[in-house]
Amino acid sequence: MSQPMIAAAQYRGDKTFTLENVPLPAPKPGEVPVRIAFCGICGTDMHVYHGNMDARVGFTRVLGHEMSGVVDADGEGFTKGQKVVVRPLDHCGDCPACRAGHQHICHSLKFLGLDTDGAMQEVWNVPAHTLHILPDDIRMDHAALIEPVAVACHDVRLSNLQAGEDVLVIGGGPIGVLVAMVARDAGGKVVISEVNAHRLAILQKLGFDTVNPAETDLQADIMTRTGDKGADVVFEVSGTQPGVDAMTACAATRARIVMVAIHAAKPAVDMFQFFWRELQLIGVRVYEPVDYEKAITMITSGGVDADTVITDVAPLADIQQAFENLDASPTAMKSLIKVGA
Ligand SMILES: [Zn+2]
Ligand SMILES: [Zn+2]
Repeated sequence: MSQPMIAAAQYRGDKTFTLENVPLPAPKPGEVPVRIAFCGICGTDMHVYHGNMDARVGFTRVLGHEMSGVVDADGEGFTKGQKVVVRPLDHCGDCPACRAGHQHICHSLKFLGLDTDGAMQEVWNVPAHTLHILPDDIRMDHAALIEPVAVACHDVRLSNLQAGEDVLVIGGGPIGVLVAMVARDAGGKVVISEVNAHRLAILQKLGFDTVNPAETDLQADIMTRTGDKGADVVFEVSGTQPGVDAMTACAATRARIVMVAIHAAKPAVDMFQFFWRELQLIGVRVYEPVDYEKAITMITSGGVDADTVITDVAPLADIQQAFENLDASPTAMKSLIKVGA
């Protein structure tokens, strides 16, 4: 009997993917095979594409962690045909973070789809503990948003946002827009700061109040909107120095500032404002199981407008073109790869 083969997109370095026909690998003990439906392209995947993570991923890596799929064979308590998503984190179980119950920030955390092969292949074997079961009637393209929505759910949960509070989201890209949606769903009065005209149009279509800080004084605008109080909760999603300046300038007394963006370089932070107005800075990283369950609810309830956030869908065979297109138009929101037939 000939071994079954699957298509897998491998990253080869130098902004290049090749589509390979590889033998279907047998799941190891504790693993479940998942047949992939859709997989989103993450900002992290674009970092890999640009060659910034070659030392970490190598030159045969299958990327992809924002996926939806169905269980491909019975085992480990799962049944063939069940719709699932993967929470792409594998922890060691034995470090101080794991022992304290914070497995999502394990000191030796493996991120599936970067440190291991990921979902841009037809079948993906994953540890059973990473799976969340989806409702049967969920749309699989929408379900590929669950991973980034879970990021937003984690960010909003750790902000301790209360209904009626004034919220400023600095940066209206793919993560910022999801943070804004989850914050609005939690009862926050949300304003988004964004400079890109194309993104502003999408944000306005989604019903958000927006400010373009290239045209308007952001601090003055937020103070006017909040009766000179400032925003109770600020999400810094821009990863820029002007964003870091705005996060303290626009904050209310005792505001919580949530650091969502990854700042590769050390920004200058107005520490005096933390003293003067008793501000709090909250670090947030990935998600915990409860955030995945919340994200599944956000998708199925329509709390996240998935059709507006998903701006492009391409088949796996066109992965090279999909990355080139996204690279050429960084204003797109979410691009999906359709992996399944
Ligand atoms: Zn991601
Ligand atoms: Zn650990």
